[in-house]
Amino acid sequence: MFGVMFRHNDGYPIVLTSEIATASDTFGASVVGFASAIPENYFRRRIAHMFFRVSSDREGRVKRAPYGLAKVEAALLHYGFSRSDVVIASPYKLDRVIGPRTRIVGIYTMDALGLSYGSGILYWILKLADLPYRGLPYIARSFMEVVEHPAIKAHKDHIKVVVGGPATWQLVDTGAWQKLGVDVVYEGSFENYGPVLFERILKGEDVRGRVVNSKPPSMEEVPTIVTPSIGGIVEVTRGCGRGCAFCTPTLNGMISSFPFEGHIDKEIITNIEKGGFKSITLHSEEFFRYGAKGIDPNPDKVKELVVKAYKLIKRYGEDYRLHTDFTTAAVVVQAPELVKFVGEYMNEGGDWSFIEMGIETGSPRLLNMLMAGKAKPFTPRQYPDIVEQAVGILNDNRWVVVGTMILNLPGERDEDVAASLELLDRLRKYRILTFPLPFIPMGALRKRDFTVLDKMIEDPLRRELILKALIKSMEEAVRSVELIVGNMENIVAKLIIRRISLFAFNLVLSRYKAKLGQLGEHSAEFIRKLASAALNLPGERDEDVAASLELLDRLRKYRILTFPLPFIPMGALRRRDFTVLDKMIEDPLRREFILKALIKSMEEAVRSVELIVGNMENMVAKLIIKRISLFAFNLVLSRYKAKLGQLGEQSAEFIRKLASAAWDISKSPVRIPIDEANQ
Ligand code: SF4
Repeated sequence: MFGVMFRHNDGYPIVLTSEIATASDTFGASVVGFASAIPENYFRRRIAHMFFRVSSDREGRVKRAPYGLAKVEAALLHYGFSRSDVVIASPYKLDRVIGPRTRIVGIYTMDALGLSYGSGILYWILKLADLPYRGLPYIARSFMEVVEHPAIKAHKDHIKVVVGGPATWQLVDTGAWQKLGVDVVYEGSFENYGPVLFERILKGEDVRGRVVNSKPPSMEEVPTIVTPSIGGIVEVTRGCGRGCAFCTPTLNGMISSFPFEGHIDKEIITNIEKGGFKSITLHSEEFFRYGAKGIDPNPDKVKELVVKAYKLIKRYGEDYRLHTDFTTAAVVVQAPELVKFVGEYMNEGGDWSFIEMGIETGSPRLLNMLMAGKAKPFTPRQYPDIVEQAVGILNDNRWVVVGTMILNLPGERDEDVAASLELLDRLRKYRILTFPLPFIPMGALRKRDFTVLDKMIEDPLRRELILKALIKSMEEAVRSVELIVGNMENIVAKLIIRRISLFAFNLVLSRYKAKLGQLGEHSAEFIRKLASAALNLPGERDEDVAASLELLDRLRKYRILTFPLPFIPMGALRRRDFTVLDKMIEDPLRREFILKALIKSMEEAVRSVELIVGNMENMVAKLIIKRISLFAFNLVLSRYKAKLGQLGEQSAEFIRKLASAAWDISKSPVRIPIDEANQ
């Protein structure tokens, strides 16, 4: 359309790019991309640029692009623009593609301001592990780096900045887009209106503001990608049709499927031949419903797709692999034979892979209110059982499930969180990473009840859910570290990321466990002796804690791990006196008890490290875990000891005295205030 020859330093008329973290394929393992939510106090600019690398040619054209951006380029080319009109550029090389001829810079964003689920969960992960959190999530910082790029500023008088992608709502709902100099925010499907809009801008029309295009294109209007997509992604369906209230409107339309011949096969070939991928991901919001016309799956269509795609990739070599990314629990339980069939192709030769499943809640009441379609054809009341069954079926077919659970859904009550906690307990025995997500006001619930992250972790019940879900996730992440880094192409980077990941997972895991005051069931298998003492039992007085402290002193000479547990209102004491964890560690007496019990546990854990790693089969993993465990135990041990020292001798002496008098005191109706007796 604008195919006039020009020098590249004149710039391309249309430059497409994205924030750095999104543009990077993180050494070929897009699953490691979760690191993009890590705040900038851990990622100094130079380190971040080394980690989030973007492959591009000398002129700045990328070799692989985020799938959504590759689709934008494809739509523009399909409309009539040429490759010399449009470039998908590396965000590191914008100065090479922006010039006097440039009229549009289109920026694709996944998390422009750091308000997404991913950034929310990373905030909780670090805060709950007492690790510092400063600044923006790196993904948001990298959006700023692009939107404020000197090349854009230098040519701003003749450039319109257009932002699109899943995070545009953040810019609109906060009003940030105007302050950042964005001219157009484009929301919705690009295919049927985006190219027209770009043409209007190129013709000089003064287009500014928010463009919402909610009309999805027909499947025939969607062209295939020209630039390979990060992660070897190939979209096989659009829409879902289950109608969850918080889902984006583009997904809420009924599911439609792309044909294999002429569409899916072309994109697979592009990703393999141009992108160099050996692993292809058939992307769908609900893969096992490929080819379906309604809620019920169409197993024949799914099988046909899998067999054809499998045969195609195997033409390139035995080591080429096929994957998918999303499912619901309901369809898995509805079609277990189909899941088994697909698993034989996707997880061949005993391989495991990840699959995401939005669990969202264990509460049938909330499900009924906000996402009744998620359980179909089953009822919301059956949903917790359906989730457990689905995870079991997926595990049987060698999928590790990545399950998400949303906190703070509009209308959520404590009993809903309790139901989710119950479901979480039932899932403990399966291979699943359970990620607690803060509710993000999207879809039909946009602008409602934005989650205040700190408020969630201050609330004891929600804090417990978050901690337990994260402990389960971290335990599974340690076990699945090979899967996480599996696709990384650079061996040295792979080794480094693997070690760093293991260290980080184990570090936060030990902190969460200490915080929750509990020990995972699996640990009980290899720990010789385990004792626990509950704090905050109903009616507990200071003298009771002092008596427990005395007992703790008497146990010091034995081989025992002593774990202080917060009282949890269960059984006959259900709904009574829920323990506020922070209050416990602020109280000097209880703090001393917790610290002393944990010191004893850590000392014994150091001594028992061989028992802890004893059952591990992989020698290298065993050595690494042993070293990391020893490091972590000794680290927390030294910190606890330093903290205990701060309590002061006076307090310790008083507590000893009080402990020896405790039995008499406990019989007396008179309670001695701790600071009065201390004088
Ligand atoms: S099941 Fe998932 S994709 Fe479908 S509407 Fe619900 S949240 Fe959206």
